Amino acid sequence: MDPRRRVPRTDAVLADPRLAEAAVRLGRPVVKDAVVRAQQRVRQGEIEPGDVAEAALAALPRHATSLRPVLNMTGVLLHTNLGRAPLSPAAVEAVTVAAGATDVEFDLVTGARARRGRGAAEALARAVPGAEHVHVVNNNAAALVLAATALAAGREIVISRGELVEIGDGFRIPDLLVSTGARLREVGTTNRTTLADYREVVGPQTGFVLKVHPSNFRVEGFTGAVEVGELTGLGVPVVVDIGSGLLERDPLLPEEPDAASVLRAGADLVTASGDKLLGGPQAGLLLGRRDLVERLRRHPLARALRVDKLTLAALEATLRGPETPVRQALHADPLVLRERAEALAKAMCQAGLDADAVPAEATVGGGGAPGVRLPSVAVSLPERLAVPLRQGEPPVVGRVEGGRLLLDLRTVPPERDAEVIDAVLRANHRTAR
Ligand SMILES: *Cc1c(COP(=O)(O)O)cnc(C)c1O
Repeated sequence: MDPRRRVPRTDAVLADPRLAEAAVRLGRPVVKDAVVRAQQRVRQGEIEPGDVAEAALAALPRHATSLRPVLNMTGVLLHTNLGRAPLSPAAVEAVTVAAGATDVEFDLVTGARARRGRGAAEALARAVPGAEHVHVVNNNAAALVLAATALAAGREIVISRGELVEIGDGFRIPDLLVSTGARLREVGTTNRTTLADYREVVGPQTGFVLKVHPSNFRVEGFTGAVEVGELTGLGVPVVVDIGSGLLERDPLLPEEPDAASVLRAGADLVTASGDKLLGGPQAGLLLGRRDLVERLRRHPLARALRVDKLTLAALEATLRGPETPVRQALHADPLVLRERAEALAKAMCQAGLDADAVPAEATVGGGGAPGVRLPSVAVSLPERLAVPLRQGEPPVVGRVEGGRLLLDLRTVPPERDAEVIDAVLRANHRTAR
């Protein structure tokens, strides 16, 4: 008989209670697609007509987003390709709270419109008391664009040649600044810039002096840069892009600038990312002089760079809430990491795997602190497990080094260890077959 005549009708399959439930959760088109694909398999003789519902169920995505939650075991704390900072449970909860209708821009007492995102702004101002005023935009790149547009369009931004940074994926800060209509006035050389270099070019045409933290590279040897404190006497605003969003000094990262210290040194405006060392959602933080921040906040472009309520909720929870996963990873005790790695390796060995706890080095990542190496411990496994682990559920991403797959413990919290063992054993089982 023609197999096409035996294919169950779409409506009939969709009436299966399990698929009906999935349609409520994931949306009917997604479920219908899966049914259509299963029907196709019947026509091709791959499955029996009675198995269409089962096959459609098995092929359904788990979530309505195609994004997958990944276990980052790369040893890179802020991995841009893996979404940078993982949010704290408090921030995740805040996102859920704000997801529906919420008073993001409404005063529940008076019933009138209120300043958007005041909770996040208050939390940021409280975290950095040295800032007169704060504002939050989409990301640090947006903060720079807003500052350049509002304070230097048609005028000059003075910047050291040693600070013309490419952020990543081909995007360069100088190009970003020029795109606003500001002109760059480069001073000094790649390795050395002096106060006299700045003084020579600053004048009525200057919008501001910009210092950019070289957050993803290091220059060593015959070098020299001018400190923020020395630039404040030039008579023009000093804007400092600190990059990572560290709000106060961290003794582990002595060369990483923080907002409080830079403001104390006399910066008029500081820009930073929310999803690097601050450990929050993607956001651009602007902190500093009240008049400057207010000009930025009232500029028409500010509306185009405005952040979503979910971001504001997550940022506030990050600032007020418990220690972030990024900070926990940064300050994790190597002795504890060793104990965990040994326990993991032992469990994997007992299952017949060639596993070992080995010393490793973790890094902060493109998000900051270049050159800082954090002593860490990894589980070393046969390289052949890299692909099945990456394609498993949940995907586990490690790094391959010297013919071994290393799973670095510093970038995952201890409560995920059992999941790691489980994922490794399943990946091994799949490759062994
Ligand atoms: C990361 C970084 C940026 C870009 O920040 P986004 O939040 O990704 O837009 C800009 N400047 C510096 C110094 C950085 O480190």
